[in-house]
Amino acid sequence: MQISRRASDLKPSATIAVTNRAKQMQAQGVDVLSFAAGEPDFDTPEPIKEAAIAALRAGQTKYMPTMGDTRTREVIAAKASKQNGIPNITAEHIGISSGGKHALYTAYQCLFDFPRPNESPSECLIPVPAWVSYMPLAELAGAKVVELPTTTATGFKISPVQLKSAITPRSRVLVLCTPSNPCGTMYSEDELRALAAVVAEAARTIAPDLVVLADEIYEKVAYAGIPHFSIGSVPEIAERTVTINGLSKAYSMTGWRVGYTVASGEWGLKFICAMATLQGQMTTNITSFVYPAIRTALLECEAEAQMFCAKFGERARLIHARLTGIPGLVCAKPTGAFYAFPDISAHFGKTSPAGRRISGALDFCEALLAESLVAAVPGEDFGGCGRNHVRFSFACSDDTINRGMDRLTKFVADLR
Ligand code: PMP
Ligand code: GLU
Repeated sequence: MQISRRASDLKPSATIAVTNRAKQMQAQGVDVLSFAAGEPDFDTPEPIKEAAIAALRAGQTKYMPTMGDTRTREVIAAKASKQNGIPNITAEHIGISSGGKHALYTAYQCLFDFPRPNESPSECLIPVPAWVSYMPLAELAGAKVVELPTTTATGFKISPVQLKSAITPRSRVLVLCTPSNPCGTMYSEDELRALAAVVAEAARTIAPDLVVLADEIYEKVAYAGIPHFSIGSVPEIAERTVTINGLSKAYSMTGWRVGYTVASGEWGLKFICAMATLQGQMTTNITSFVYPAIRTALLECEAEAQMFCAKFGERARLIHARLTGIPGLVCAKPTGAFYAFPDISAHFGKTSPAGRRISGALDFCEALLAESLVAAVPGEDFGGCGRNHVRFSFACSDDTINRGMDRLTKFVADLR
């Protein structure tokens, strides 16, 4: 019997696939050093856990309002307003979903349509290399993905001129992820203001329905002196920006599944209502006893988030120094998130000691895992020049970084 084309054509998540494979090998007792998962290795801070335990004990175990209880939505609205400068938001402009990924899925579904007969599809503009889920989920919602290529030399950032020339009357969404997964780089405030000006101008002229989808899930992981800036705070485009965020990365809460969406003003209210309708048919509210934990994280755990960030900064310096010491590897300095994204293409065409031919990043990663027991994500599915790159997540200990880089150094030295 058939599986739908929608499901069977969907590309599996490469990040999840490599992470699961590494975990499986570790469970079998294989000494794999994993640089696969974009998942902080720290435990969730104790006060956050205590808040959930207390809510559970107090019996907060029933269905709750679909987009979250008002108190928690108010806390997120206050945070988005004070810390991110996003104007015109109340609790009603916030939606809480089961992770940033679920928020992204739901937001896309509320932004794109499948084209009618004789209609061209809506376009989703995505600077690439980009996180593996942006493209398949946009296509699932009916969009045509338009890749905006970037390179190591420009810090993997698009320019205003490049954006301007990519926008057409069919452009519906521009995805921006800063700090970036997988590139580990960030846009400055000036750079984002310049992109916002292009979006505002295009919205006045050729693309009236253009929306910026700003993924800020790594906002608290910025350790190189570039302050995180929210493009949704720019007044000209505030009401056409959908900001996605979550607790996974900042507070080491990947397994809790908490993501949220912020959309400003009158249109934002309508947008969150549309998301609520979809979510009400899909998942309803997130786990009810998690709400107090969200408030505790946002109101009381800034110090922990800063401590995690400082640690990621130290690791960024360590892994960058190690990677750039390996012949043939070229790597932009990570300034945010916890990824190093070296270009390894100088080694394409070579053969590993066990006879594997390295013709791309996927071959490189397969040989590295099989022969040196180091797991990393090949860049093909990130799009654009990603095919020349491998992503190393440094959300792991200094010891793992040092031992993993020792193995990588030897692996590369042994390629012929
Ligand atoms: N956006 C980006 C760029 C990510 O790397 C992730 C990591 N999974 C997410 C969104 C979603 O994270 P989560 O679903 O855990 O909130
Ligand atoms: N975002 C993380 C990563 O890129 C977690 C896995 C996923 O959701 O893709 O590794």
